[in-house]
Amino acid sequence: MSNALAVRGVVKKFGNHVAVDGVSFEVPRGVVYGILGPNGAGKSTTLRMINDIIAPDAGEITILDGMKPGGDAARHIGYLPEERGLYPKMHVIDMITFMGELRGLSASEAKKRSGQWIERLGLSQWAKNKVQDLSKGMQQKVQFATALIHEPALVILDEPWSGLDPINAEVLADVVEEIRKAGRTVLFSTHGMEQAEKIVDAVCIIARGQKVLDGRLKDIKRAATAEGIVALGWADDRAREAAERVLADKALVVEQRPPRPGDVADCEVKLADGTDSQKLLSALLGAGVGLRRFELVTPTLHQIFVDKVGAAAAVAERRPEDRHA
Ligand code: ADP
Repeated sequence: MSNALAVRGVVKKFGNHVAVDGVSFEVPRGVVYGILGPNGAGKSTTLRMINDIIAPDAGEITILDGMKPGGDAARHIGYLPEERGLYPKMHVIDMITFMGELRGLSASEAKKRSGQWIERLGLSQWAKNKVQDLSKGMQQKVQFATALIHEPALVILDEPWSGLDPINAEVLADVVEEIRKAGRTVLFSTHGMEQAEKIVDAVCIIARGQKVLDGRLKDIKRAATAEGIVALGWADDRAREAAERVLADKALVVEQRPPRPGDVADCEVKLADGTDSQKLLSALLGAGVGLRRFELVTPTLHQIFVDKVGAAAAVAERRPEDRHA
């Protein structure tokens, strides 16, 4: 499948600070792709380079099989920047229509599509209001419309959920799904792994400017499941005691930890290299351990991320608003 985007060895420094440190990833056409990572990881900087707002110090960016950022490529991209910006005094319908015309639509087509988006996003009663009269969440929806009205082949959304309530977050997820069904490509950034996990086909996870892992979500999950976390539940206290001896065997289990929040297992264990879940199961049954639960755990993206980078790196390192301090 051809690529919507290829980023190769891209570097961006601000003074002595390396914000993006040799990041490479490819976004196939027709997928929903998430750039994920904590605040300050370098997500927005990467998206700004793709949109030619800033230039990389090193590396290469190729858009839609051959175009460089800016110029022709810009016409095929719909971009929701992190710093939202609309004309506050314009009426909502005129704002969206104006952006459609700027992106090459005829006045009548822009007006027609603007009306459709206003209805689609539940903004009909606000169409004739000034942008500044709308709540932050509603303004954000207007900005989505301005980014999407020209039906770009590549939609780039920087932290699209920030400022959206749960209902509008659903609307956004539906719109993203429609774009995917139309065979177009969505690239978005977020620090919210749970939200992203529901809609992505593939991800690139970054921390401290560097790629931690990338690939299709199902491949990442399959690999992480095979790495072997098993959730265990004991039938009774006797089973718990009997299990202790088995779990102390370092040839079977390298780590024992509490269950995930909300999980009714008694504990989770990480299997030792060279063993597998069947061997653990046999050992437990052989020791007469009564089991209520024995399940290979598919970790969440957040857990995979924490496993790869450690809990400290998984939280915000430096807030974006500190950047000008
Ligand atoms: P993210 O989008 O993942 O939260 P950013 O790409 O906004 O991260 O920022 C990455 C790092 O680069 C942060 O440490 C941020 O403070 C710094 N940074 C971003 N833009 C600038 C800038 N224009 N000047 C100086 N530092 C910046």
